[in-house]
Amino acid sequence: MTETKDVVIVGAGFAGMYMLHRLRSLGISARVFEAGSGVGGTWYWNRYPGARCDVESMQYSYSFSPELQQEWRWSELFASQPEILRYANHVADRFDLRRDMQFDTRVTEAVFDRATHRWTVRTDRGDVVSAQHCVMATGCLSTARVPDVPGIGRFAGKTYHTGHWPHEGVDFTGQRVAVIGTGSSAIQAIPVIARQAAQVVVFQRTPNFSIPSRNGPMTEGYAQSWKSDYPALRDKARHMRTGILNNPNDVSALEVSDEERRRIFEERWAAGGTNFMAAFNDLIFDQRANDTAANFVRDKIRETVRDKDVAERLAPKNHPIGTKRICVDTDYYGTYNRENVRLVDVRSTPIREITANGVRAGDAEYGVDAIVFATGFDAMTGALLNIDINAGDGTLREKWEGGPRTYLGLMTAGFPNMFMITGPGSPSVLSNMMVSIEQHVDWIADCVAYLRAQGLDCIEATQAAEDAWVEHGNEVAHKTLYPLANSWYMGVNIPGKPQVFMPYIGGVGAYRDTCDEIAAEGYRGFELTGGSVVDEAVDLAVAE
Ligand code: FAD
Ligand code: NAP
Repeated sequence: MTETKDVVIVGAGFAGMYMLHRLRSLGISARVFEAGSGVGGTWYWNRYPGARCDVESMQYSYSFSPELQQEWRWSELFASQPEILRYANHVADRFDLRRDMQFDTRVTEAVFDRATHRWTVRTDRGDVVSAQHCVMATGCLSTARVPDVPGIGRFAGKTYHTGHWPHEGVDFTGQRVAVIGTGSSAIQAIPVIARQAAQVVVFQRTPNFSIPSRNGPMTEGYAQSWKSDYPALRDKARHMRTGILNNPNDVSALEVSDEERRRIFEERWAAGGTNFMAAFNDLIFDQRANDTAANFVRDKIRETVRDKDVAERLAPKNHPIGTKRICVDTDYYGTYNRENVRLVDVRSTPIREITANGVRAGDAEYGVDAIVFATGFDAMTGALLNIDINAGDGTLREKWEGGPRTYLGLMTAGFPNMFMITGPGSPSVLSNMMVSIEQHVDWIADCVAYLRAQGLDCIEATQAAEDAWVEHGNEVAHKTLYPLANSWYMGVNIPGKPQVFMPYIGGVGAYRDTCDEIAAEGYRGFELTGGSVVDEAVDLAVAE
């Protein structure tokens, strides 16, 4: 039996949850499909020890409901994964979202019919839904990736991926644990695992820059300083470059004296968090400016880690600071002063295989009882390309063979009525994702409402608008240092993935203005069609 809805939403993370709420408030029917057994997306899957947000919780939270943002109380400055998941569940209950959600269900196929202007969406549980619009709220970091290391199946102990952590938790007491990877997930997990396990062996291919979070309990005073002025502060954040109120210093790092620069870096280091990168206005544009920040953090690593050789190995040398996602930690570098933590450089001696007893890198075998893969995600395109998406002229996979191409990261030409939330070509992962999610959801909801009000039922990005947006995206990216790093932003972490800079780096505020202008001009760069003839066709199709 084919169910009929106005909209199918794929994914019940923060994007899919808010999308459902907004559409409902417009009287538009929707069905959400979610592969997991509950809401929360990232915070449902990533239950590894130490997982928490790196944007302060007063900002990494929904702003759409004044009541919600006033009543919810965060217990720490940077909430932990269990608390963020509780928040997601609270939102689902408070807005009665679950009755339109189907869990444990993966969308496998979406096919667009150009005669009826409708998508037929199929799932791995045999559901078939016909919908005018399909919204991909599938997440930028939801396709966990275990590298193709020979021998994984032979390992006698347990293996874990940070992005698929067991719900019951893992007790590493007394165990020898390998952690492969030193990205944000590993940097959060390693200090916590090291406090529990007998021994931790960290396999590092590329060291990362990490800034201490200075996390701590949320005081009533601090929470109130936000709550008493939330509408104005949220609005200000929406117009910032990163969607975060990070107190940017609009001065070049090269214009100030060495003493002044050091003072400013010290101040930011002491305050903690990603705001460090807003210390000067040219850190991501100018190599020399960037070097000043990178050198400062390298010196901090050398000050913290007692073993000089280990400190040198932990100090990143091969990419500008911030061009791989900057990490935020609690006692990451200090953890290497522990007796039970060992760092293995797998850049010079790559991991060759997993054996029954552990990990073989170079000529050495490291015996362990458990392996934690903190090896990241097929980011930004992985979840979308796992679905067979076809709009008549070929699949999305075929279209994106050379890398993702979109107009505004919201739609891709040739795939009408399909929206992406935080798709490639939008600020997404370079921003406070809550801000970017809310902006996309609001834009999409307004667009669907506009189509209805105009008696239209089809919207498609034009090829010309998409080409111009892709060109603009590349142009702004190449004015920065970002493309210099072998990062997942560039798709480098996935063998064979086309290497293009995927997010839009023009800034959250400017991007919002562009999206708003385009909508105000009757959706410039989109073709809007449909009407009564199509409505008859839909009636016929549904009757059949
Ligand atoms: P997700 O939360 O990824 O949800 C997408 C959902 O879609 C998933 O539940 C997935 O199961 C489902 N799905 C995908 N494909 C299908 C399919 N075919 N069928 C059915 N369901 C499907 N961002 C920040 O701004 N600040 C932070 O501090 C921060 N911390 C992070 C920490 C970690 C460990 C990670 C991995 C990411 C973090 N992020 C952070 C980014 C984070 O992904 C976003 O902030 C946000 O949670 C994304 O929400 P979403 O709904 O867009 O996607
Ligand atoms: P990641 O940043 O992609 O890190 C993966 C790590 O695994 C890298 O160090 C990588 O090394 C290593 N690796 C991969 N394959 C390997 C192999 N075959 N051998 C050795 N090492 C290998 O993934 P992540 O840490 O899960 O983070 C992904 C993103 O999620 C972050 O950038 C961030 O946006 C978000 N996140 C945020 C937080 C937070 O603080 N709130 C926490 C976790 C995640 P190379 O660098 O050499 O490829």
